[in-house]
Amino acid sequence: MANLIDGRAIAKKVRAEVREEVAHLQAQGLTPHLVVLLVGDDPASQIYVRNKARAAEKVGIRSTTYHLPADTPEPALLEFIQDLNTQDDVHGILVQLPLPPHLDSQRILEAIDPQKDVDGLHPENLGRLLAGHPRFLPCTPQGILRMLQEISYNLEGKEAVVVGRSTIVGKPMALLLLQHHATVTMVHSRTRDLAAHTKRADILVVAAGRASLIRGEMVKAGAVVIDVGINRMPDGTLRGDVAFEEVSERAAWITPVPGGVGPMTVAMLLKNTVQAAKLQVGL
Ligand code: NAD
Repeated sequence: MANLIDGRAIAKKVRAEVREEVAHLQAQGLTPHLVVLLVGDDPASQIYVRNKARAAEKVGIRSTTYHLPADTPEPALLEFIQDLNTQDDVHGILVQLPLPPHLDSQRILEAIDPQKDVDGLHPENLGRLLAGHPRFLPCTPQGILRMLQEISYNLEGKEAVVVGRSTIVGKPMALLLLQHHATVTMVHSRTRDLAAHTKRADILVVAAGRASLIRGEMVKAGAVVIDVGINRMPDGTLRGDVAFEEVSERAAWITPVPGGVGPMTVAMLLKNTVQAAKLQVGL
C-alpha cells in the first residue's frame, strides 16, 4: 500500500512558516495585502475565493475581495486592475479564473503588474520560469514541488510524466520538474497511448480534470503519484483524476483528493503574497 502525502499537514506547516514571516514583517511596519477579484457568480469560484481570503487572514495577511458583476465590461475591469497596480498598499493581485466568456482572460492577466502577480500567470513571470529565473511560481506546481521535498524525493534523473498541458498546472509543472533535473514527458488529450507513457513514470503528475482517468495498471510499481484533479461527482463528492484505491496498491506515494494538492495551492498563494510584499518594498 502506498504512503499518503498529506497535503493538509504539509500546508499547515507552510502556513506556520508564512505566519512567522508575516509577524516579522509586521514588526517592521509592513502588512502584506492580497486583493482577490471575482467576476460573476460561478459557485466553485466563490468557494475558492472565500477559502483564499480566510487562509490569508489566518496568517496575518490583509485580504480584500472585490466581487464584480458577471456583465462587467472588459475596459472597466482593466481600469480596476490598473488602479490596484498603482496602490502602494496592495502587494498581490489575483483574478479568479475562469472569467465570464465575454472577457479575454489573457488580456486581463497581462494587465496585472508582474510584481503583484501572485498567481504567476503573467507572461513575464511564465517567461522567467522558462528562462530558469522564476519570480512567482504558479501556486499548484509550487505546492507539488514542496510535497516532493517533504518526502525527500530526489528528482534528478527520474522519469517524470505530466498529464495535462494547461498554463496553470501542466506546463509550469513540467518546467519545474525539468529544472530539478527530471526527464520530463508531457501527455495530453491528443496523446496516442497514454498508458504507455504513464507506465514509465517514476513520478506521475495528473492534471486532466477527468475523474479516475489513471487506473492501477497504468502506474509503475513504486511510483510517486500526484493527483491534481478536482472532479465533482453527481452525488456531490469530490474525486481526483487518479483511481485512488487501485493506484494505491502499486504506488509508493500518493496524494488524496480532497486533502492533497488543493490545500498546498492555497498555502503557496500566501507564500507568494509575502514574497510580493517584500519585493515591492525592496526587502
Ligand atoms: P484544463 O482543462 O485547462 O487542462 C486539462 C488538460 O488535460 C489539457 O491539457 C488536456 O489536454 C488534458 N487532458 C484532458 N483529457 C485528457 C485525457 N483523457 N488524457 C490525457 N490528457 C487529457 O485543466 P487544469 O486547469 O490544468 O486543471 C486540471 C484539473 O486540476 C481540474 O480537475 C482542475 O479542477 C484541477 N485543478 C486543481 C488545482 C488544485 O489546487 N488542486 C488547481 C488547478 C486545477
